[in-house]
Amino acid sequence: MAKTDDPSRSWRPRTQLVRGGLARSAFGETAEALFLTSGYCYPGAETAEARFKNQEPGFIYSRYGNPTVSMFEERMALLEGAAAARAVASGMAAVNAALMCQLRAGDRVVASRALFGSCRYIIEELLPRFGIETVLVDGTDLEQWSRALAKPARCIFIETPANPTLEIIDIAEVARLGRAAGARLIVDNVFATPVLQRPLELGADITLYSATKHIDGQGRTLGGVVLGSAAFINDEMTPYLRHTGPSLSPFNAWVLLKGLETLELRVAAMSAGAAQVADALAEAPGVTRVLYPGRKDHPQHALAMRQMRGGSTLIAFELTGGKERAFRALNRLKLIDISNNLGDSKSLITHPATTTHQRLSAEERQRLGISDGLLRLSVGLEDPQDLIEDLAQALGA
Ligand SMILES: *Cc1c(COP(=O)(O)O)cnc(C)c1O
Repeated sequence: MAKTDDPSRSWRPRTQLVRGGLARSAFGETAEALFLTSGYCYPGAETAEARFKNQEPGFIYSRYGNPTVSMFEERMALLEGAAAARAVASGMAAVNAALMCQLRAGDRVVASRALFGSCRYIIEELLPRFGIETVLVDGTDLEQWSRALAKPARCIFIETPANPTLEIIDIAEVARLGRAAGARLIVDNVFATPVLQRPLELGADITLYSATKHIDGQGRTLGGVVLGSAAFINDEMTPYLRHTGPSLSPFNAWVLLKGLETLELRVAAMSAGAAQVADALAEAPGVTRVLYPGRKDHPQHALAMRQMRGGSTLIAFELTGGKERAFRALNRLKLIDISNNLGDSKSLITHPATTTHQRLSAEERQRLGISDGLLRLSVGLEDPQDLIEDLAQALGA
């Protein structure tokens, strides 16, 4: 754990990504060591007792903590400017734990309507089973936030830019309304990445990630991480994780540490590529709408540029001709892969209405702007010109 006087706290993000949290073993290895161990031995019974009573630092069992996983947690905390972080096995484990560790029967949760499909399942179906009232609002409408937060609430859950329509929520304003309602603001920052957006600086209390996406960024492993104050992480999150066990494998933490080393370079290149592809799509035949936060025609472009450091690596666009035309375009692609994953070095495209958001009713999809002609493209590290040419031939007559 870094102390507050640790010089690594003041390193710039690019340096944090490569060196943050590095805890070398007695062998002085250059790369982060991979500790594939489930348990730990103690020099004496007194040490075991002291560690269990939390009177002495040290590892006890890898469900509780592991040196490789700790390096990943520390690097993420430094990068995000958070006091503490806990890593878990997947993004959904992060979402579930961040909510469940602090909610009780009788609490109220207010969330934006445009969310990753499984996040909506937790908020709409799972939480109400335990006596938690959940309210969904249109995230871009501050009037609705203000009304929903006129009554006290325990948590607010948002995603911005949101999946798949890339709508932008005003983090600072929702945080301000939340504070007045006594609610903690949780931001699912997957689409923006820690490179393009820092929700804690904008007033959020908790940030979380699916590390499966840009943090690994090379299609290898699942992972998740939750970041926040020391009190929240140590007193609420940690006991919940210890006793319910969604632990991140040390091997996967090691893969994620190596992914972080190139995160800024990848996200910068992918966003620059996405900006070029978005401009080309806007001119392509049969494309009625391009939703890209970095483009001036995005409905919340000004807000996006205020709270983000770039336009995103994702693009949503709509085709005339509904599902049939969308499927035809997908099936003609020769380079871009059909996949619902995102943030990968390979460009991936999906049809949200029949995949990630198929669980929602047609009416709800319409309300969210997920039409049958909508496609979501995650731009990878290929040459943008090759992506533009692949899309052009797939969209052609
Ligand atoms: C992928 C994703 C998740 C879930 O992450 P997993 O690692 O797949 O469990 C949650 N939120 C958003 C916005 C995502 O894109």
